Amino acid sequence: MAVKTQKLIEVKNVKKYFPIQKKPLKAVDDLNLIINKGETVGLVGESGCGKSTAGKTIIRLLEPTAGEVLFEGENIYEFNQRQMKELRKDMQIIFQDPYASLNPRMKIEDIIGEPLDIHHLAKGKKRKERVHELLELVGLRPEHANRFPHEFSGGQRQRIGIARALAVHPKFIVCDEPISALDVSIQAQIVNLLKSLQEKMDLTYLFIAHDLSMVKYISDRILVMYLGNMVELSDSGSLYDEPLHPYTKALLSAVPIPDPTVKRERIVLEGEVPTPLSPPSGCVFRTRCKYAMERCAIEIPKWKEVKPSHFTACHLYDV
Ligand code: SF4
Repeated sequence: MAVKTQKLIEVKNVKKYFPIQKKPLKAVDDLNLIINKGETVGLVGESGCGKSTAGKTIIRLLEPTAGEVLFEGENIYEFNQRQMKELRKDMQIIFQDPYASLNPRMKIEDIIGEPLDIHHLAKGKKRKERVHELLELVGLRPEHANRFPHEFSGGQRQRIGIARALAVHPKFIVCDEPISALDVSIQAQIVNLLKSLQEKMDLTYLFIAHDLSMVKYISDRILVMYLGNMVELSDSGSLYDEPLHPYTKALLSAVPIPDPTVKRERIVLEGEVPTPLSPPSGCVFRTRCKYAMERCAIEIPKWKEVKPSHFTACHLYDV
C-alpha cells in the first residue's frame, strides 16, 4: 500500500466538553491527529468512549470546547457561516443507523438530491441524471430513485446514505459506525464499497467503529480511544501484530482469528467504562487494567512514540 503523506486534516488539542449539572463531561479530551489525503484512519473504542463526538467535532457538526482543526491548512473553527456552508461540500458524514438517518416520507430521488439543491449543484434533468449516476455508483439502480426508504434492506439504505454523502463531491467523509447496525454478511460489502469509492474518487475517511474486527480491512492507521482520551495510534498492521496498550490488547483479544493455529490470550474487560463526569485519576483505564501500578492512579501517562510511528500512553512503556 502506497504511503500517503500529504496532510489533509490536522486536529490540534481538540476538546469537547458538555456541561452537566455545572460539571464538565469530558467527551473528548485533547485529541491530536493528522489525517493524510487518500488515507483511512480507523477510530476505535467501546460505546461511550467519545469517538462519535470526536468525529462530529472534527467536522464541526458539534462546536468544540477548545482546539483547532486545520483543513487544507485553514482553521475551520474560525470559519463564518458562509465559509462553513462551502466547507460542507468538502466534509460529509455517513451515519450509523441507515433506518433513522433517511427521512421515511421522502423519495430516494429527493434524499440524494437534497444536498444538490442546498448547494445549487444541479436541478431539473441534470439533478435526475446525477441522482441516477450516484445510485449506480453505490451499486443500486436508477429506478430505485422513485421508491421510499422502507422499500430497502439495511445494506441498501446504507448505500443510499453513502450516495447522499457523495452527491457534493466531498474530499473527507466521517463514517460514523456505518456497519454496526448491519448483518455481518452485509458489513463486508459496505466496507468493500467504501474502499472502491475511495480509490475512484480520491476520498479520505475517518472510519469509526466499536470493535477492531472490520476496521483492519479498511484502515491505513488506527487510533484507539478510551474515555475521551487517545490511548494508541499506529498503522493497522503494527496495531494488530504488536498492540502496546492493555486496552488495545483487550479489544483485540475479542476479535476472532481465522487461522486456528494462531493463539491469542483472551483478555476479558471487567466492568463498564467509567462515567466521563468523574473519570479515574491518573490513567483513565486503571480501574479496568490488570497491569495497573501505584503510579497509574497518580500520574497521567504521557503520549509517546514507543516504536517508529507507533504511539501510546501507558506507564508500562516509560523508560
Ligand atoms: Fe494500565 Fe497503568 Fe498502563 Fe494505564 S498506565 S494502561 S493503568 S499499566
